[in-house]
Amino acid sequence: DTTSGFQNEPLIDFSLEESRTQMQEALETVADQLGKEYPLLINGRAIDTKTTITSRNPSHHDEAVGTVSSASADDAIDAIDAARRAFPSWSKTEPQYRSEYLELIAANMRRRRFELAAWIVYECGKPWEEADGDVAEAIDFCMYYANQMRRLAEPLNCNVPGEENAYFYRPRGTVAVIAPWNFPLAILTGMTAAALVTGNTVVMKPAEQSSVVAAKLMDLIHESGIPDGVVNFLPGIGEEVGPELVGSPDVELITFTGSRDVGLAINESASETDLRQNMVKRVIAEMGGKNAIIIDDDADLDEAVLGVMHSAFNYAGQKCSACSRVIVLESIHDTFVERLVEATKSLKIGPAEEPGTIVGPVIDEDAKQRILEYIETGKEEATLALACEATELNEEGYYVGPHIFTDVDSTCQIAQEEIFGPVLAVMKADDMDEAISIANDTPYALTAGIYSRSPANLNRARRDLVAGNIYLNRNITGAMVERHPFGGFKMSGIGSKTGGPDYLLQFLIPVNVTENT
Ligand code: GLU
Repeated sequence: DTTSGFQNEPLIDFSLEESRTQMQEALETVADQLGKEYPLLINGRAIDTKTTITSRNPSHHDEAVGTVSSASADDAIDAIDAARRAFPSWSKTEPQYRSEYLELIAANMRRRRFELAAWIVYECGKPWEEADGDVAEAIDFCMYYANQMRRLAEPLNCNVPGEENAYFYRPRGTVAVIAPWNFPLAILTGMTAAALVTGNTVVMKPAEQSSVVAAKLMDLIHESGIPDGVVNFLPGIGEEVGPELVGSPDVELITFTGSRDVGLAINESASETDLRQNMVKRVIAEMGGKNAIIIDDDADLDEAVLGVMHSAFNYAGQKCSACSRVIVLESIHDTFVERLVEATKSLKIGPAEEPGTIVGPVIDEDAKQRILEYIETGKEEATLALACEATELNEEGYYVGPHIFTDVDSTCQIAQEEIFGPVLAVMKADDMDEAISIANDTPYALTAGIYSRSPANLNRARRDLVAGNIYLNRNITGAMVERHPFGGFKMSGIGSKTGGPDYLLQFLIPVNVTENT
């Protein structure tokens, strides 16, 4: 078993003074490098464009993190062309060597661990531990997919007298990677690494809000010596380059992580077949969630309160895995809510650079306005049980404190729509049947959880909760590569789980060769 060698990258323990000092130093070093410019990279050539994107620190929006070239539709065509031309030789590079490139990138990430985390803190307002987790997960994706590819590189033989059969995989072609800002390094690295190690070539389109972290990844890839054109860096505005990437007759596969609306639009336009096209495009889309945790009447409330609170409010709820609904059995509802509200009041809201911050800013002004609108809707639909204000920080950054609503009906907008912010809807259930049916009553199926001491109810949750990742008696975020392959179904996405054994297969075409002997 070649996967047995894989081990998750250990997380940094920030309770140690030494780690805190290292992080502080990295933040200072990176602070001196803010405001630089970053070009596109197409076929190994740096290209400065006339229009640019300035990335701002969400914790202090006056601070520019960097200015990144913004690709035009023509640049997208050039990038696709470069990837297409690099394909024949990259696809024939031994899988073993492709795996080694990933391992080299991972080694360089390890070396630059604190620095990369510092960039994530500044560009995405991600608190220290989460930023470190992001880098660790990026390393894990490289190491795990490298391992998986070695396994997949072995043909499967099924021979009978007079006939030899070999079943093996070939790469698909050019892959468009369209990534989100919330895991600016991990998700971009995961999708890109998977495409690369399987022998495909890539056009990498990061989210506008996290283009500088993406430029750091492009540097790491370039420095690893991967041949020019194999990965092309195409930061830009989604509306401008997206249609070119998705509509191009030369892009075989689009791998996307982000909102449901964009994912569905990509899926739809990728299905339109161009006359110049000689294949059917494939789309992998990992989209949103409206994830619930059930609190049984015998749950350990100490654990349940912490688990719900961290799942809902860490990184200001900006994870597709975050808990946005909690369904509490009637008899413990009031006690649970009281304790959850008290605990949540103690969460530290503040700039992501400050150690100990749990709830940082949200990503930008648009996000803040969208979340505030949902809070207003919530006030009409339900009872506001807690509103943590971040008023004194609001001059500086895009802050929204944790909000908890009670008396929420499952049909409410705040119980159905993904808010992607620190807003939690609490619902009451008479019994476990009702709790499970409320939990399943959304179009999404990403993560779900339960706190219970009853083996029978834990088993019911295992069987009846409709979600890709189900967590029993723990928080519902922070999936780890290999241990918790991550991803959902229904409106949460199409495609198999990241960091899991089936993920790479989506980037490959199986072929069988039969020889008459
Ligand atoms: N994999 C992450 C987690 O388990 C969530 C990824 C996302 O937000 O897209 O928390």
